Amino acid sequence: MGGEGTRQRRALPAKPRDRKELPLARADYGNLIAGDWHTEGEAVANVNPSDLDDTIATYAFASAEDTHAAVDAAKRAFPQWAGLTPEQRQAPLEFIGDELIRRKDEIGRLLSREEGKPLAEGVGEVARAGQFFKFYGGEALRLHGDFTQSVRPGVEVEVRREPLGVVGLITPWNFPAAIPAWKIAPALAYGNAVVFKPAELVPGTAWALAEIISRSGLPEGLFNLVMGRGKDVGEAILSARDVAAVSFTGSAATGGHIARRCAETMKKVQLEMGGKNPLVVLDDADLETAAAAALNGYSGTGQKCTASSRLVVQEGIHDRFVDALSDKLAGYTVGHALDPETKCGPVVDETQLQQDLDYIALGQQEGAELVTGGQLLNRATRGHYLAPALFTGTRNDMRINREEIFGPVCAVIRVKDYAEALAVANDTEYGLTSAICTDSLKRASHFKANSRSGIVTVNLPTGGMDYHVPFGGMKASSYGPREQGQYARDFYTTTKTAYTKP
Ligand code: ADP
Repeated sequence: MGGEGTRQRRALPAKPRDRKELPLARADYGNLIAGDWHTEGEAVANVNPSDLDDTIATYAFASAEDTHAAVDAAKRAFPQWAGLTPEQRQAPLEFIGDELIRRKDEIGRLLSREEGKPLAEGVGEVARAGQFFKFYGGEALRLHGDFTQSVRPGVEVEVRREPLGVVGLITPWNFPAAIPAWKIAPALAYGNAVVFKPAELVPGTAWALAEIISRSGLPEGLFNLVMGRGKDVGEAILSARDVAAVSFTGSAATGGHIARRCAETMKKVQLEMGGKNPLVVLDDADLETAAAAALNGYSGTGQKCTASSRLVVQEGIHDRFVDALSDKLAGYTVGHALDPETKCGPVVDETQLQQDLDYIALGQQEGAELVTGGQLLNRATRGHYLAPALFTGTRNDMRINREEIFGPVCAVIRVKDYAEALAVANDTEYGLTSAICTDSLKRASHFKANSRSGIVTVNLPTGGMDYHVPFGGMKASSYGPREQGQYARDFYTTTKTAYTKP
């Protein structure tokens, strides 16, 4: 997710988040610090973006002091956890994974209610979060080192993998279950202690996840939930000397700040940030496959770092493709996240909605043609409903094609041949995902080899990834070792080289 460096998402006028703050009330749900739940402090209301009159509950926002207490607790619990056998570390992860999968309907409903993605996607995401825990439960048992001969006679060399200590995990609002899961699960599996800071807009799912984790049999204080603001909780994590590493997913502007702050205290850092992902459609593509792949760019209301936002289309198929995608968008029902008819939920909040509207206006000022969508919609409940927008006649140097909008807005760029398509696809600061739709094996192979992105797909959307293989991008999209699959161990462990003369 996120914007392009410091000059993008922040460049547009920001409005305050539309969550009501009730400083005097006691929160319904609290933070988990050193094994205890804390409801004292500031209580913040969690409001449903599909229905602004629906307040889900109030959640305690932690202070910097609370966060330091969480770090201290994690530090104290770490040696015990790191000293357990792999099977003992596997058991709680299996417990958490099983319960998430068993309760996916209930927690998925909460997720959709607070984030706004359609119910089926919310339920699917919670099940996916469960799969992460189960996968990394197994990985706890597969953390192998190396043993090799020394260059010196009679000496043995071992390369051991060891945990880092306390890790700080800072997550965004767009995948309230999956992103925390793909950070917490490997962090624990590989023997670390955790201080978890979810995004301000989605405390409900984070709390539900933390509540399950609190009953999974981990040592007290090993896992801590600190809900709250970036400037309080986030900054406290970044300043804590006892935090060995920070894994972050969010905007490029915040990511850059976090990298600089982590350097001050020599923390290991992993950043997952924005995308401006191209979907290339060649003349020989199957039209239905291409249109379906492009429609996927609007899923989650386009609020996905992997979403395709630049549709790079060859001239021979251009008009048919635009018609086919427009037809699909006409049936892409925008509505309340919990309505079974809904394909596209509301925009997450007022700030993001304003950003989307500003970019839609900007695209028109830049000379792009708005083929469909872009207007606000009225529904039975008060929510941030926006008709998915499609631009044609755009150039890759327009701001709508350079900057991450993070909304249901896509732009078609017409190209004459594959060579131009590849050049346009790669001409971006970002490099998270890319896709090509073609029947040509030769072009698909060339694209896979030459696309400058961390993930590339053929005849598939740019979004929707597996959990057992690496996830991450090139250029401004990512920084540090990859997430997910077995590759996650490169971030969550360090190596120690041991020499022995028996
Ligand atoms: P968005 O603009 O979409 O909210 P952000 O990158 O600002 O995206 O937020 C992603 C996560 O980073 C959230 O959990 C947020 O609270 C956190 N965050 C924001 N600012 C900071 C900061 N200065 N230090 C640490 N974390 C931060």
